Amino acid sequence: MAASLPLDPSKDAGGCPTTEDWTELLIETLRRPVQVSYGTSRTVPVRAQEKGQPPVFCVRLHRSFSEAPMDVCEALARWLLVGRRARKACTLLDDWIDQRMQREPVPPHSAPTLHPDGTTYDLGTLAQEVLAQCFEGHFGEGRPIPELTWGRRARSRSRHSLRLGSFDPLTHVIRLHPVLDQAEVPRWFVCFVLAHELLHAKWPPKRGSGRRWIHHGAQFRAEEAAHPDFERAHEWEKLQLPGLIRSARQGTTFRAKRSRRLRDLIGRKGGR
Ligand SMILES: [Zn+2]
Repeated sequence: MAASLPLDPSKDAGGCPTTEDWTELLIETLRRPVQVSYGTSRTVPVRAQEKGQPPVFCVRLHRSFSEAPMDVCEALARWLLVGRRARKACTLLDDWIDQRMQREPVPPHSAPTLHPDGTTYDLGTLAQEVLAQCFEGHFGEGRPIPELTWGRRARSRSRHSLRLGSFDPLTHVIRLHPVLDQAEVPRWFVCFVLAHELLHAKWPPKRGSGRRWIHHGAQFRAEEAAHPDFERAHEWEKLQLPGLIRSARQGTTFRAKRSRRLRDLIGRKGGR
């Protein structure tokens, strides 16, 4: 049988690939039973897994693949066939997916509930200070300030690490770990973590060479290093992290460790 690869060009004139077109294309390329369906996941726009007995290769594509041009269709087929070794196809596919996902509206149900007012620290108040101190003129018209919230007080299971803050570019929300909302965590440290996450909003992740995501790029690092509390914040984190992890795991009150070096550093800066 003559391969109908790529999709029948006659369908390209205004025609969009249906799931049947995709199935046909992928069976031709992969030479195995395939079933294609459309979905709405922005975070996993392509999901492929073998299911059932006899096995069928089930491919779920974001619905925007119904508007994919022919070269993208071919690139996807090639990627499913040989994986990341298909470098050119991967680049083409990644770029197209990035572009398309940016156009997709964020579904309303993903809007998180916000709790900026903690028991010790109100993130709104702290953010005002941080913005005035480090982000003068950056946020405003067309560049909204991210929403702020404390994370949920679920017990952490990790023994070795703790994510103190995060910025979600999709929902535009900065979330701080509730372990920081305690009296023995200095106010300036919480402000520093907030500044770090606000820098993520200012310098969103971008793809570097080798298609890896760069979260802390050169500009990000330079601005963070220029923060007046950069040094003592890193020193404080290094010293207190085991205690913070314990507090997050056990749900107990955090007690800060004392250290002369830190006291000297903080002393120079002046208290909290
Ligand atoms: Zn970061």
